[in-house]
Amino acid sequence: MRRYTCVSCGCAITEKDTIGINKKLLGKQTKSFYCMECFADYLGVSVEELQDKIAEFREEGCTLFS
Ligand SMILES: [Zn+2]
Repeated sequence: MRRYTCVSCGCAITEKDTIGINKKLLGKQTKSFYCMECFADYLGVSVEELQDKIAEFREEGCTLFS
């Protein structure tokens, strides 16, 4: 798996779910990836809400969260 780093804070992104939610919300071709904290900040939501979204997408059977 390629290495992903947060475009905002530069930390390494290791969670597959975090990559998944970035692709889901920014588009599969996105070159920008955010860690959970920065992505929540970027979207103006809480990290908890973002995790709820991931759970929702997974339940829908989204392949990014298999
Ligand atoms: Zn970050």
